[in-house]
Amino acid sequence: MDHVVVVGAGLAGVRSIEALRFRGFTGRITLIGEEHHRPYDRPPLSKAVLLGETDSTVVDSDLDALDVRLCLGTAAKGLRDGVLETTEGELEYDGLVIATGATPIRLRGEGRQHVLRTIEDALALRERLVPGARVAVVGAGWIGAEVATAAARAGCTVTVVEAGESPLAVALGPAVGSHTTDWYARAGVELRLGALVGTVDADGLTLMSGARVPADVVVTGVGVRPAVDWLKGSAVRLDNGVVVDEHLRTSLPNVVAVGDCANWWSRRFRTRLRVEHWDTALQAPDTAAATLLGEEAVYDPVPYFWSEQFGHMVQFAGHREAGDRMVLRGDPRRDAKWAVCWLTADDRLAAVLTVDRPRDVVQGRKIVESGRRLDPLRVADAAVPLRDC
Ligand code: FAD
Repeated sequence: MDHVVVVGAGLAGVRSIEALRFRGFTGRITLIGEEHHRPYDRPPLSKAVLLGETDSTVVDSDLDALDVRLCLGTAAKGLRDGVLETTEGELEYDGLVIATGATPIRLRGEGRQHVLRTIEDALALRERLVPGARVAVVGAGWIGAEVATAAARAGCTVTVVEAGESPLAVALGPAVGSHTTDWYARAGVELRLGALVGTVDADGLTLMSGARVPADVVVTGVGVRPAVDWLKGSAVRLDNGVVVDEHLRTSLPNVVAVGDCANWWSRRFRTRLRVEHWDTALQAPDTAAATLLGEEAVYDPVPYFWSEQFGHMVQFAGHREAGDRMVLRGDPRRDAKWAVCWLTADDRLAAVLTVDRPRDVVQGRKIVESGRRLDPLRVADAAVPLRDC
């Protein structure tokens, strides 16, 4: 293999390059990125950047030392066997890494709506988070909650409009999500649940019910779609992102996919997973690089992510299914720090969510990995360390 092309200059793209070099690949590497920036981290965009604590989140990686040809401001447009089509012409490859991430979903309507995916998005939104500004955030998911946190801290009057019956209902289910409702009230943020947005207008939102939410600033945080439209019509199989096997191989030879855009087969959970979180973009590239270089490697992680909202560190590890049994550790109405474990029918830990209990998530992730059984009565006792349950 002489030439590897990496498409997408985000975290998964740059980590793929590091992994290829670390594994001894000495051929040419070209990095194609639609944005004009060197790879940067996105988690701080809704945290330190919005809060005004930093302007740059560039990934700490020495691309010069990695001997990479950087093609920024260049978008991939299509793919045939061995040839990548880009806005700047065609490029032949022997190996290809697809790492094009995801793009935010926008709502209908003529009014200006901010989304939060790029550094430009974050800086443009930050400018508008001024004291007294009326900010409507659509979606009480991870991004919506973090934006609401920053907007409230900036002195804005914040309304969060959520279609579900609780915050984080899609990610965690309404029973757990409802334990975060108080956080909004305490931060002075109005939370409107069960409210569907019809349109974004020049002066705010119109809900499907006809009600209006007046706002100077509208932020849409209703999720993302994998950025894989450029692969339509190619031989790469698409279904909720790029379909890859447990080695991160796509349906096209010598082509792998990683990060937010990759929908991989999880051996551990016996299902397909597409995880839009930082740790996946960080870790999966090592397996993808090994696979490209013909080594035997399987990507089989216990997914992990975190979110910082309303002064709380929220962490999650594992993968939960609808039938898993929830066991609370601590009382969210009384205790500042609490956690939820999801147990399978035979009392194995499927997933753990922690609020300001970092030990539980570290131990829980290891327990999910080990697949060992727990005693549910001990799990329910927050005083017992999870590793001793
Ligand atoms: P991306 O970072 O999206 O990079 C993909 C790159 O590919 C982009 O630069 C894009 O422009 C480029 N690209 C797209 N299409 C093309 C094309 N056709 N040609 C060339 N280039 C293309 N995760 C957590 O675990 N915890 C957090 O607290 C957290 N906070 C977040 C906050 C924000 C505001 C955002 C947006 C994400 C957050 N995440 C968080 C998620 C995490 O940042 C992502 O999972 C991670 O960035 C995914 O990396 P990636 O490299 O797969 O994709």
